[in-house]
Amino acid sequence: MIAEILSTGDELRSGAVQDTNAGYIARKLEEQGISATRHQCVGDDAEGLVSVLAEIAGRADMAVVTGGLGPTRDDLTTAAAARAAGVELALDQEAEEIVKNYFKSRNRPMNPANRKQAFLPLGAVCLPNPVGTAAGFRLKIDGCRLWFLPGVPVEMKRMRHETVLGQVTQCMGRERSHYKTRTLSTFGLPESVADEMLAGFSGRFEGIRLGLRAHFPEIHVKHYGRGDAEKGLSNSMQAAVAWVSERLGDNLYSTEGESMASVLGKRLMHRKATLSVAESCTGGLISDWLTNVPGSSNFFRYAAVTYSNEAKIKMLRVSPATIRDNGAVHEKTVLEMAEGVKALCGSDYAVATSGVAGPDGGTPEKPVGTVCIGLATPRYSKSKRYYLQSADREMNKRIFAMKALDMLRRTF
Ligand code: ATP
Repeated sequence: MIAEILSTGDELRSGAVQDTNAGYIARKLEEQGISATRHQCVGDDAEGLVSVLAEIAGRADMAVVTGGLGPTRDDLTTAAAARAAGVELALDQEAEEIVKNYFKSRNRPMNPANRKQAFLPLGAVCLPNPVGTAAGFRLKIDGCRLWFLPGVPVEMKRMRHETVLGQVTQCMGRERSHYKTRTLSTFGLPESVADEMLAGFSGRFEGIRLGLRAHFPEIHVKHYGRGDAEKGLSNSMQAAVAWVSERLGDNLYSTEGESMASVLGKRLMHRKATLSVAESCTGGLISDWLTNVPGSSNFFRYAAVTYSNEAKIKMLRVSPATIRDNGAVHEKTVLEMAEGVKALCGSDYAVATSGVAGPDGGTPEKPVGTVCIGLATPRYSKSKRYYLQSADREMNKRIFAMKALDMLRRTF
């Protein structure tokens, strides 16, 4: 099946606004077993629109078009669709109701310009818009089914979800294949090493393709599956995930594409255990990630961003001698930080970070990228130094924070 996506509007063509609709629609079509063969963008140009719509109609089985359905003079898509189909525009009762109701529900008189939105190409089927004035519509041109949706992402998404999804499934049902994806999340392996570990996958599992995606500092191993039979595809996917999991070993922390913080949060909740954090170089990033996990109040107790030596000493009771003799970035210091925050709030576990995120502050002994991570658990405490330099300060903070969470994950 040939399926295409067309985005319209000068702001997209010129790059003033980034086209997020096309990617979103492509992903949603993939989930329905339809691979978009082409994405295009055309500006607010009547002739250009007519010719690209005619081209698509001559080539594709279906298409989703967004933008240009509004009331202003540069909203040209509806008229262009009519011209490409060789039909007139005609008043559509349903589209008229949508515009009228929009203004009525807001107690505002209808702007005369909006009347334009009540006219659709003859033969088009109106698609209700629950959140805006622009109705969408469905139109067949030369045997190609086209869905026209507003450009505003929130309106497009609502309509795709409520109306278009069902229609696409119904209209294209016989031509669709089954589609499944699975994301495995890993941390700790360079992309090239992960790739090597997974050599031999190709062709082993029917209908399943692998893709490695760097999602710094994680690597996601995406499984894309397509097949004619749902059951066969599920079995194939399960076998592929098991094969990949075995090869990645404990570098793999989720077979469901979860975040590290979420995996850790679940493990802590499962044990009814609590966690506190003392952060220096990561500046609150670990706490931010942990509190993004729904239900984090069940396990997350306390966080201290103790950036200065004074804060480490005053708040966490790190011994001044430890810092004086070893510096803030040291295994002994982070060990005392972790134990200090654990004692302060009575949590079961604690992690602490202190490192050199750069770009300045590195020394030959502790270059930029050096991080010390401390861990306090109910049974023991430990700390370790790593050298994890990435491209810039922000990336260093991310990899330090991830390493700290990963160190804790590996204790369970
Ligand atoms: P409405 O009448 O609700 O404005 P419309 O179909 O006329 O709908 P457009 O005028 O084409 O929509 O776009 C409105 C705004 O929506 C644009 O200025 C832009 O900010 C955003 N938009 C449009 N298309 C896209 C897209 N493909 N990706 C991201 N944003 C988009």
